[in-house]
Amino acid sequence: MTAAMLDQPKNKSPVAYVVTNGCQTARADRDLLRDELSKAGYFITDKADSADLLVVSLCGFQGEAYNESKRLYEKVNGERKQNSKLIATGCAAGIYTDVIKKDMPKLDYLVPWTGLAGIIGDLNAQNLESKIPTSIFEEANYAEITVARSCASKCTFCAIPKGRGPLKSYPIELIASTIQEITRGIAVGKIDGFSNGIVEENSPTSVTLLGEDVGAYGRDIGSSLVKLLRTLYDLDGNHLMKINVLNPWWFTTSHQRDGVLSDIICDGVSQKRLVPYFGLPLQSGSSRILGRMKRHYTAEEFEQMALSLKRKIPELGLGTDVIVGFPGETEEDFKQTSDLLERLQFAYYGLWGYTDVPGTESSDFPEKISMEVIQERLEHLEALVARKVMVENGCASLRELRSRKIPLPIVTNDPHVGVEAVL
Ligand code: SF4
Repeated sequence: MTAAMLDQPKNKSPVAYVVTNGCQTARADRDLLRDELSKAGYFITDKADSADLLVVSLCGFQGEAYNESKRLYEKVNGERKQNSKLIATGCAAGIYTDVIKKDMPKLDYLVPWTGLAGIIGDLNAQNLESKIPTSIFEEANYAEITVARSCASKCTFCAIPKGRGPLKSYPIELIASTIQEITRGIAVGKIDGFSNGIVEENSPTSVTLLGEDVGAYGRDIGSSLVKLLRTLYDLDGNHLMKINVLNPWWFTTSHQRDGVLSDIICDGVSQKRLVPYFGLPLQSGSSRILGRMKRHYTAEEFEQMALSLKRKIPELGLGTDVIVGFPGETEEDFKQTSDLLERLQFAYYGLWGYTDVPGTESSDFPEKISMEVIQERLEHLEALVARKVMVENGCASLRELRSRKIPLPIVTNDPHVGVEAVL
């Protein structure tokens, strides 16, 4: 697969189809690419069979995500028209490179995000590099903007830094002007001739600040999340911000730069500039396993920071993620995870069975845990969460919970999702 310029059909606009199975940051990238292709003269379609150029941005977060990426490739390749060009990009392109070459033989190009402008003629490379990836949901008076790509950590189970490259923070001034432009645009319905009849007058535009780890914001440009938030709190305009996810280690004392992060978050909530909700991934309740994951905090530190945040902001909603079956995880390690989830209150639970991801440190670790044991441990935590939700809602059974349409705040890669079986 070699890079070459794609010829533009002479007399009619070329048609482009851009799709992703990835996360919020991947969707923001998709929307930026659609914008830039449209500026380059492409007509953007949502029908793969009418496109001259097809771009699939593939997720490589972990094993199940890669399987989904393969299915997406097969679907798009099956629908594409003759003489069209199919490009794969996204995190998987940098993580599963060799696997993709075997699994996706009909691709014309396989490039990381930064390589797209090199093979799509007329695409403005500078814009793709410097503009802030943004997703705008006008009807919901809501937007998501990427403040930093990738992260500053080296967690042993994760290949995101390999897939997305080194940490890249966008300048504070550019983030500020982008938020003001979006807020103004939505408010007066300027975007795409949108009429915002359904948006109450003066209701704040909710803007989520995206990043694989928003806590790492600014570390590569001599700035920090604290500085960014202070600037955005003082910004004119009717916007309310939300942080998607923070690595807990930014709350441990040794990482405070420009002020105490939890205090800045408190300020934002009390000033009604910040939604009292963000993701705080625990990953494991065993300090021994957290050490092997290179998470740089202990289970005790995590518990203390979660409790202190809740004391400072009683209405705070915390989401969390845990990995079960990390290499070497003993019954005792798992019990510590389960006990910590039992003790702490979360608004959302990401329950992930460990999978080896190419190029990660842990993929070479011994003492791999069997799929059966991982399945058992996943189901144990699903049942734990279901019981907590039943107690919170005064329900005697899962059936009653379902009949009252109370959802379980669980996301998982558990192929069985076996709550019923173990309750
Ligand atoms: S902080 Fe998150 S994205 Fe970064 S390496 Fe760790 S798990 Fe991966």
